[in-house]
Amino acid sequence: MRISKTRFLDLLRCPRFYDYTQSVGDTIDPLDQDILEHLTGDAEDLETLTKAQEAVLNGLHERVEREASTWVRQRLGGHTIDLDTSGGQHHVERSVHGHVWTAELDILNPTDTGVHVIEVKASTTSELSKLDFKLNGVYHPVFVKNNHVHKLVEETAPYLETALQEKYLKARKNLFDRLHKVGRHVYDLAFQRFVYEGSIDYDSAKAHTYYLALLNKDYHHDGQETYDVVNGEHVISLIDLTTITEELQSVVAEDVRQVVDYIDQHDNRYQNLIKACQKGTPRACPYLTQCNPYLKVDYNVDELMGSSYKDTARFAHQESKPMIADLDEADRSKKPKWRMQYDAIVHDTIHVDQASLKAFLSHLEYPVYHLDFESFAAPLPRFKGEKPYQQHVFQVSLHIEREAGMCDNTLDHVEFLAEDHRDCRHDVVAFLLEHIDLSAGGTVLVWHKTFERERLKELALAIPKYASELQHIRDAVVDLKDGFLGKGALPILYKKALHGKYSIKFVLPAYTSITYEGMAINNGLLAATTYATYPVIDPAHFDHVLDAMRTYCKQDTWAMVTLLDVCRNLIEQNSTD
Ligand code: SF4
Repeated sequence: MRISKTRFLDLLRCPRFYDYTQSVGDTIDPLDQDILEHLTGDAEDLETLTKAQEAVLNGLHERVEREASTWVRQRLGGHTIDLDTSGGQHHVERSVHGHVWTAELDILNPTDTGVHVIEVKASTTSELSKLDFKLNGVYHPVFVKNNHVHKLVEETAPYLETALQEKYLKARKNLFDRLHKVGRHVYDLAFQRFVYEGSIDYDSAKAHTYYLALLNKDYHHDGQETYDVVNGEHVISLIDLTTITEELQSVVAEDVRQVVDYIDQHDNRYQNLIKACQKGTPRACPYLTQCNPYLKVDYNVDELMGSSYKDTARFAHQESKPMIADLDEADRSKKPKWRMQYDAIVHDTIHVDQASLKAFLSHLEYPVYHLDFESFAAPLPRFKGEKPYQQHVFQVSLHIEREAGMCDNTLDHVEFLAEDHRDCRHDVVAFLLEHIDLSAGGTVLVWHKTFERERLKELALAIPKYASELQHIRDAVVDLKDGFLGKGALPILYKKALHGKYSIKFVLPAYTSITYEGMAINNGLLAATTYATYPVIDPAHFDHVLDAMRTYCKQDTWAMVTLLDVCRNLIEQNSTD
């Protein structure tokens, strides 16, 4: 059998995976997971993407690869064998245990002094920094950067103090976890190395260095066409992982043996929910509901608020209680929310915390500006001051509710939509300042305030002239989600139709008759990818596409107007009961 890296990583998930590939069909290469993580939307929204949109997303990864190749030639010298010079990645393969293991090297860089092997990821160095550890209130790094290359601390200036050394080794362990955010990239590179060093292309007489190329979180674009060094930072960072991938070779060899055993055993009995299923992530196993059919059924234990996959596995698999209604008194007493969810399902109770809801509503000042942004996060920043994956707001919807209950879906709605890929930050700010008037008080209502507040902060940094006005808007932001979820041990509002979730996708159908069904664009991921595909949209359909985007974003803020009304009605209902 020919086994690519993607297939190997899938087969390594568990003994059962191979059987599914035989009976259900093999998996296809997924979209770039790093890029997807930076786009708003749920895993299931991926199914709504068109082929053209998928191609544009994959094209974003290719642009990162090209930029990395250019930087490698500048920084390390020599020439590169890559997407540009050979029309594709460099294919290598080796035979082990009767199978052919294949890998595509993103960049091979032979120089006078040795060979550099580079795996490019459209991921940023942010996760690398999160490995840093704290001792006595001071953060210490696992990697240090020197001349644009990150190296392990032990290779430059090792920690000498025992306590520091212990903490360092603990943080370093994450690099060996193939399900860790950084560890998975390291493992990818280690597998590439395993295949390459057993292939006919490998020349053991030459020195080899193995790098990850990541997007530099500290880079701010200067607005030029090309990506040069700006304030000492380049958009690509190289991470030297020669030592770690060397240590990982025995692990990869063992994992290869393990996969061969899985194939030979052809085990079709193993069913569970394990970490390798990667449930709830863009890397989720495609056979998740085959192994866990209860996940397709409403009110299963996976809906329990604040539960982990381990809770789900324990209830569903070890204790044979896949439904929330199966939980016994001891289970229900573990968390007040679990008891509330059980009661909602079994006794059809509807939870309303009147006092908290009243308090939430009393803090709102009118006019209420129902605000929603749509944005696109490009891996390679496009405009001056932007960082890799900075969210660029391209659409704004605003419904203005001047007094409680006084808002017309059409007459009180204004919107902004960028119709091309030019920098629209000034237009967005002008739109906000024109339509949001807080001089006599008011509230800016959003759903999930972190997102809108961060965008307002970035706009203020980009256009400092209006920083104080934008800060004023930011200060007036209130999260409507807080009126439903609250901050206590129990939410403010709950009914079983929420299925334990408070995204607008669940809250809206639970409390209103508004639906996104039948809309050409019906989720944030689709809106962002539609914006990304502007240049390839048939001009004859372009206006139609823009209309669909406007309809979607308008619906988002109208949904908030309606949900606020729901909150007020719940208070009134109670006071008349
Ligand atoms: S869902 Fe989990 S247990 Fe089932 S095949 Fe996938 S990884 Fe294995």
